[in-house]
Amino acid sequence: MTILNVHCPYCSHKQAVEHAGDYSPAYAMCPDCGERFILEPVAGGVMVYRDGEAPCCSDPDCREIELAASGQD
Ligand SMILES: [Zn+2]
Repeated sequence: MTILNVHCPYCSHKQAVEHAGDYSPAYAMCPDCGERFILEPVAGGVMVYRDGEAPCCSDPDCREIELAASGQD
C-alpha cells in the first residue's frame, strides 16, 4: 500500500489517496466535491482522469471487461 498525492480532476482539491502500489489504475472519491475519478500511477507521477474519460487501458472497469473478454479466446 502506498499513498499518492493527487489533484481532483473536477475541483482541483489536493488529496492523499491510498493505492495498491503497482501501476494499476484505481478509482478514488474526492472528499471535497464527492465526485469519483480515476488515478493511474505512471513513471514519474500519477495521472488523473474524470470518470468515463480515461482511455480503456486506464479505466479499472474497462480493463476488467477487456481482460475477461480476452480470457475467453
Ligand atoms: Zn473534487
